[in-house]
Amino acid sequence: MRNLLAAVAAVVSIAGLVVIGGTSTAGAAPVCAVDYKLNQWATGFTANVTVTNQSAPVTSWNLAWTFAGNQAISSGWSADVKQSGARVTVSNMPWNGSLATGASAQFGFQATYSGTNEVPTDFAFNGVSCSGDGPTTTTTSTTTTTTTTTGVPPVGCGTAALCDDFEQQTGTTPAGRWTVGAANCTGQGAVSIDNSVAHSGSKSVRVNGAAGYCNHIFFGTPVTGSSAAVHGRFYVRHTTALPAAHVTFMAMKDTADAGKDLRMGGQNAALQWNRESDDATLPAQSPQGVAMSKPLPTGQWNCVQFTVDPAGRLSTSLNGAPVEGLQVDGVPTPDIDQQWLARSGWRPAVTDLRLGWESYGDGADTLWYDDVTVGSSPIAC
Ligand code: CA
Repeated sequence: MRNLLAAVAAVVSIAGLVVIGGTSTAGAAPVCAVDYKLNQWATGFTANVTVTNQSAPVTSWNLAWTFAGNQAISSGWSADVKQSGARVTVSNMPWNGSLATGASAQFGFQATYSGTNEVPTDFAFNGVSCSGDGPTTTTTSTTTTTTTTTGVPPVGCGTAALCDDFEQQTGTTPAGRWTVGAANCTGQGAVSIDNSVAHSGSKSVRVNGAAGYCNHIFFGTPVTGSSAAVHGRFYVRHTTALPAAHVTFMAMKDTADAGKDLRMGGQNAALQWNRESDDATLPAQSPQGVAMSKPLPTGQWNCVQFTVDPAGRLSTSLNGAPVEGLQVDGVPTPDIDQQWLARSGWRPAVTDLRLGWESYGDGADTLWYDDVTVGSSPIAC
């Protein structure tokens, strides 16, 4: 079966789509179907998986399989994805545990590999083999649809847990690991996949950011919680210079700060960080502080790198150069991080990454994002 599936997967990479009928007891209903879509490059891949419950309704589920090779999952989304050795067990999230007969749930993950990347052959749904060879079932079969596309490695991916060049996006809005919206209120802001503007490949995410408090819009994804520093890098291209008013183009939920956002954006025409919980800014919005930050150039792709350290430090670079006014180094410096450090005990624990546009008064912009990475070590431009 494994050889058959491997052969089919090879065909699929050329033909695009194939349906495999598994073994079946005559007249018996299949237990599950798995749609396993790959986007892979030489050293890594993402998989978007749809599992369909073809047995009795369930209120929770898990899907398990064993990789044939050295595939190593670095992050997952829309489910709890765990790997032990070659064995993978995926469990539902609170919102997608109930599956009626015939209903489906979707999740995905990113992984590294070397050699070949065979499609798993031993899917089991709630402990029951989908392929009919499990120990506890006599009435199973599987239908597996695989679509493999040959992707290109996102720029500077390394082993980052999140690394997305958006080339696998096929719809009009970001899907897979990404969710579009805003927690408080949304209105005229819009997020779409752009097929003509890109830093890499041919696709990016476009944000039409409108002025006014209730036009917030973001596309976001969970970031694996870690006690280590979070290193991020993304490319942003925008149209209108940062305004005098406060705006945000990146937000991260800080679970150690009552779930409030740690925000990167602009004020007084220069980049700044802002802490939602107490409205502290980095740098201070004095003329001297603003002068130690930088504008975000318009009409070009800009590389933004940042590090959020759970010890309470922040660092920021723009197009490869550290920005003096955007560093929290633990030693209070007037006009830079003195205000930020006036509150002791800030120990950030960020759990997501959202890119988009949030204006609190004036300030509209059209922005594009591409080659977004978050990992446990610095990621080069
Ligand atoms: Ca791209």
